[in-house]
Amino acid sequence: MNRRPDRHTIRRILLPSGRAIEVVRFYPAQGETGLHVCPSCGSDLVQPVEWAEAPRGFWELLLRCPNCFWTDDGVFDQEQVDALEERLDAGLTEMLADLRRLTQANMSQEIERFAAALNADLILPEDF
Ligand SMILES: [Zn+2]
Repeated sequence: MNRRPDRHTIRRILLPSGRAIEVVRFYPAQGETGLHVCPSCGSDLVQPVEWAEAPRGFWELLLRCPNCFWTDDGVFDQEQVDALEERLDAGLTEMLADLRRLTQANMSQEIERFAAALNADLILPEDF
C-alpha cells in the first residue's frame, strides 16, 4: 500500500491500566479519489450506510463520513462500488489488527500485575 506519512493523526488511548498507546491513522495522499474519500474533510473512512441495486448494473449508495458526518447519496458504477468494497475490506483488516494490538497490550499489563502480585505473595491457593 502506498502511504505517505505526511498526512496522519495520532490518537492516544489511555487503557484502564493507566498505560497509554498511540493509534496512528493515515489519510489519503493529496489527490487520491474514490468513494472512500470524504470531499468535506479528506478522511478516507467514508462508508455506505444504505445501498440498493439500480438499473443497468449501477448501485445507489447513501455515503457517510464518520469523521465530519458529511453524507450524500448517489448512483455509482460497479467499478466504483468494487473499489469501495476493497477499501472497506482493507479497513476491516486494519481495525482487527488494531484490536489485536490493543488486546495484547491489555493482556501484557494483566500478566505483569499478576506476576507482581505472585511475587508479593498476594495470591494464595484459596484465591482459586
Ligand atoms: Zn468527512
